[in-house]
Amino acid sequence: MVTIQIVDNIANVQETIATACVKANRNSDDVTLVAVSKQKPVDAILAAMQAGLTHFGENRVGEFTEKIPLVNNQVSRKPTWHMIGHIQSRKAKDVVPLIDYVHSIDRLKIARKLSDLAQATNKTISALVEVNASGEAAKYGFEVSGWQDNEAVKDAFWQDMRAIMELPNLEIRGLMTMAPFYDNMEDTRPIFADVAALRACLQGELDISLPDLSMGMTNDYAVAIEEGATIVRVGRAIFGNR
Ligand SMILES: *Cc1c(COP(=O)(O)O)cnc(C)c1O
Repeated sequence: MVTIQIVDNIANVQETIATACVKANRNSDDVTLVAVSKQKPVDAILAAMQAGLTHFGENRVGEFTEKIPLVNNQVSRKPTWHMIGHIQSRKAKDVVPLIDYVHSIDRLKIARKLSDLAQATNKTISALVEVNASGEAAKYGFEVSGWQDNEAVKDAFWQDMRAIMELPNLEIRGLMTMAPFYDNMEDTRPIFADVAALRACLQGELDISLPDLSMGMTNDYAVAIEEGATIVRVGRAIFGNR
């Protein structure tokens, strides 16, 4: 029963992605669906893999250190594992061996720590710099709200980005953001557009390549895709409520 529902949900999400891509004149191959499996059992992940998904997102170290090996051991081809949650410094050592893609580089200290650990194990981790573009106090991420008008905000972030880009064994591929929860999905649009503009500006001014924008969750991924998301992180629409 659960499995059938998941397969159905995935088809619906993929259709929503395709529709958003058509609307934005984008190729749906350019959008990666990360299925956020936090708080969901291994069986649900295996069902989603059988339906064709290959990217999964987790947000708690204590949870994924148990789940990821269980999944990896049962499949012929391991999925790509994404860490989407805040990482405490002392837990960084548990992230590096299991995770392929970190979305939550939310401070310089954790970037340095992950770089050091990755270097020590000869691994390169793909990573995204998380930005707080809404000014919400409860959010993690580099504070960038107002960057278009506020030189001090922009300068501080540019300096952090320069430092992060230099770290070995972290391949910085772009930015990640979370919009606040709004009843109307349209209200998220200015935030996603702002982060897309931030990426474009960084690429131009720092002469770097940032191919990825991770933005959009169950509530708002259609709008995020219209504004340029290349990775969407969808949990509830696939696995049901937590
Ligand atoms: C939980 C979570 C998601 C998925 O949220 P849903 O509403 O279940 O789609 C996406 N991104 C982050 C950072 C999350 O913590």
